[in-house]
Order: sequence, then C-alpha cells, then structure tokens
Amino acid sequence: MFETGVRQFRLALGIALRRRLDPRNVERLVGDVLATLAEFGEAGADAAELVEGPTTNPEDRLEFTNGSLRRTAVRLGAQSPFYARLFSSAQIDPAKLDVAGLRAIPVTVKADLTERPGDFRCTDVQAYLATRTTGTTGRPTEVWLSRYEMELWPALGALASVLRGELRPGDVMQVNLSSRSTVALHQAANACRLAGAGCRLLGIVPPETALESLAEGGATILLTNPSYLAELVKAARRAGMGAGDFRLRRLVSGGEVLSPSLVRAASGMFGVPHVEDPYSMTEIVPITGRPCSQGHMHHDTNLGLTELVDLHTGEPAAPGALGTLVITPYFPYRDCTPVLRYDTRDVARCLPDEPLHCELATVPATSLVLGKADHLLRMPGGEIVTSRQFIEVIESLPAEPWPARYRAAACDGRIRLTLPASAIAGYSQAEAVRHFAAAGLDVDLDIVGDDQAVSLRHTRSDMLETTFASPHALVGA
Ligand SMILES: [Zn+2]
Repeated sequence: MFETGVRQFRLALGIALRRRLDPRNVERLVGDVLATLAEFGEAGADAAELVEGPTTNPEDRLEFTNGSLRRTAVRLGAQSPFYARLFSSAQIDPAKLDVAGLRAIPVTVKADLTERPGDFRCTDVQAYLATRTTGTTGRPTEVWLSRYEMELWPALGALASVLRGELRPGDVMQVNLSSRSTVALHQAANACRLAGAGCRLLGIVPPETALESLAEGGATILLTNPSYLAELVKAARRAGMGAGDFRLRRLVSGGEVLSPSLVRAASGMFGVPHVEDPYSMTEIVPITGRPCSQGHMHHDTNLGLTELVDLHTGEPAAPGALGTLVITPYFPYRDCTPVLRYDTRDVARCLPDEPLHCELATVPATSLVLGKADHLLRMPGGEIVTSRQFIEVIESLPAEPWPARYRAAACDGRIRLTLPASAIAGYSQAEAVRHFAAAGLDVDLDIVGDDQAVSLRHTRSDMLETTFASPHALVGA
C-alpha cells in the first residue's frame, strides 16, 4: 500500500503536471510514512529518494525543468494579468519556453508586486490568506494565497520532514518568529499536526518568556531567526542556564545571516550538534534552500527553479562571481499569486565549476546567502564587501556582540565602520582594527554610544511583541 503510494507520488512529481495535486493524497502519504516508520523503523530507499529531486541525471533534469517551466508559463499567460501582458510585449510563447528562453524574460522585482499586487492574482483562484513580508527592507509586500496552497505546502513539508527524521510524533516545536509571519506559522503548525507533533507559536516575546517555555515546556525543536536566537543565548547566560536545562534536538534559524560565532554559542548552550540555516522568502514560497556540511546552499529542484543572475550583466553568474537569486516556483505548487523569475535580491556567489563532494552533491548549489544586493558595500577599487563578511567578523569579536549592529560606508577609499562601544569591549581601538584587518577588512572605526546601537542596523529581534507581564521590555535591553 505504502510502496504504491510512493510510486504514484514520484510519478506525479516526475511528469509534467497540468492539474493541481490533491493535498489529501499527500497528507495520506505522510500518515503512511509514519505508520511504516513505527513498524519497521525506516521508510525505505524509495521513500528517501522521494524528497531528493525528480532525478539526478542532468539530461533528464533539464527535460523535467523545461516541462515544468512550460506548464507554469502557460498557466501564467492564461490566468495572471501581469504575466499575460509581459509575455505579449516580449513576444514570448509560453508553450515553447525552456531554460535558455527563460533568460529573455525580464525579472520580476519587489516593486512590481508592491505597486500592482492585484495584477499578480490569478483569475481562476479564490484567495484565502494574505501574508505580508516582515523583512527589514522597506514597504511590506502583500501576497495572497489560496486554500489549496495552504493545504498542500504543509503536507509536502511534513512529508519531507518525516522522511528525513526532522519531525517525529511526540516532538514539540517552539516557534519564535514574528506573529505576522502568517504563512510560516501556518506551515509549522500544520506540518506538526500531520506529523503527530506539538507546536507552540510564541512570537517575538521577551526572551526570558521563550526560554522558560523551551526549558520547562520541553521543546525538542526550536524555529527562530538568528537575531532572536542571539537574544535567547544572552538571556540563558544571564540566567546561568546550560545544555542540561533543555531537551532540544534541532535548532532551526533562518531569515538572516547566521554567524559561526553564534552557531558555536547556541549549539553549546542548547546542547544541539549544529544549527540548521534554511533559506526561504515570503514571495517565493514554497521554494527553499538547504545548507550542507561544506557550507553550500543547495536549491530545491522539485518545486521550482533557482537561477543565480550576475549583478551587472543579468546573465548567469560565472564561477566565483556574485549574483542575485532569481526564483520561479512551478505550477501546481504555486497557485494564487505566482511569480516567474522573481529577483529576491539575495546575493550568493557562484561556486567553482567543479564537481561537488558533499552529502547533497546531486542538488544544484551556490554559496550561502551573503546579504541583500542593496546592502553591498562597493569600494572605489571595485572590491565588494557583503553583509555576511561584516556580520561574521563583528560577531567574532571577544565581546560576542550578536546580533551585529553596525553601519558601513566607503569614505576616502577606505571602509568607515560604525560600531556601538560595547561591541569592542575588552579591546582597544587599535586591537579592534587589527581584528578586522586579520579578516581582510581594512577599516576606520567610528565608535558611538550603545544607545545608538539599534538604529545602526535593524534585525528581526527588534519586532518585539509586548505582553501584559512585560509591556515595555526591549529585546536585549
Ligand atoms: Zn554542498
């Protein structure tokens, strides 16, 4: 029974689907996997392959990608006013689209979605749930989703999670994301429901409250952002807590740059072997990226196409070059407000043109996300410094000033780096300058009072949600 289900599902993923999937079938498959795991302890090789991509053969994969692009574009041309207009003005026949032809289509940018959200809504779908971006980059974008999407994604997510052992019956997942991240919260709660796990949606509350729930509430999985994780580690240190106080087996922290310094401290404090740092973004759900043990970011090929587009030429980024991630979720996984070639402005570096040897070697990869394109510091000599470079080196200072609060500017050909005084505590200015030089950053330091720290760089931990118990508490205060 279970093997039949797996075969049918693989077939459904592998062929060029023109109709929507039935979320109930995927939900049933999650139940079958759980029953098989309970009986035999493992789901079998067939099932494991299910979530690792439709195929590893490059020619078959290209055929799969081209077929997926065509069915996605055909639907957009018929149902999405924005893309119908775009295809017509660029004289593109969606039925003949392939990967090479895709590059002729202009990327969709955030301003398109923000200024004309109605034009992206497909005409054959009833909208159900609106979600807004909660990023720190300007005006929010509102994305409408259908009931079908909100049923399908948790089912697909739960299927992958139970097959990989990431979610088990009896787990308790604590979610410390902004309560306005409606899709992420819905996804987490429903994936837990399907997997027989518990889910505690807490929001960005005072860190002491979240710590108490983690420890006494017996959470086994924590889902949060790096900046809030930093506040949790600091609060746990203040309270004299250690790994023995927690039952966590997984710590998942995405949405911002996660530094090695914070990973070390958080792993030690919460007693987990590593911190998972997945890539996702509201506008391109359900597409995700997964980091591997060798520090690459591997991009989902089942549900969508991820391109790395050179920041200057708009062509595919060459090995070693920086590019922006441009993402196309496929139909039938994206339904209500689909985007094609969405320019995330998340910058990554193209890996060297040589075979990968990591555990995800068959899945296409880039470097980890290095920051937003608009936050790159361009020096007069042509050198580019990314947010990740700054955050990693600042957070590795002896004072462990996470989340890094800084401002960087090019000034007379040098980097002028503004930091709050507490960031370099324990160092003289000269020692701090040498710390940055050792990481290849030649900086002039501008030290300001700690009261200005939050205004230097906003992080997600700043979106504090007040409670009656602590109505005016500030995270990190
Ligand atoms: Zn890898």
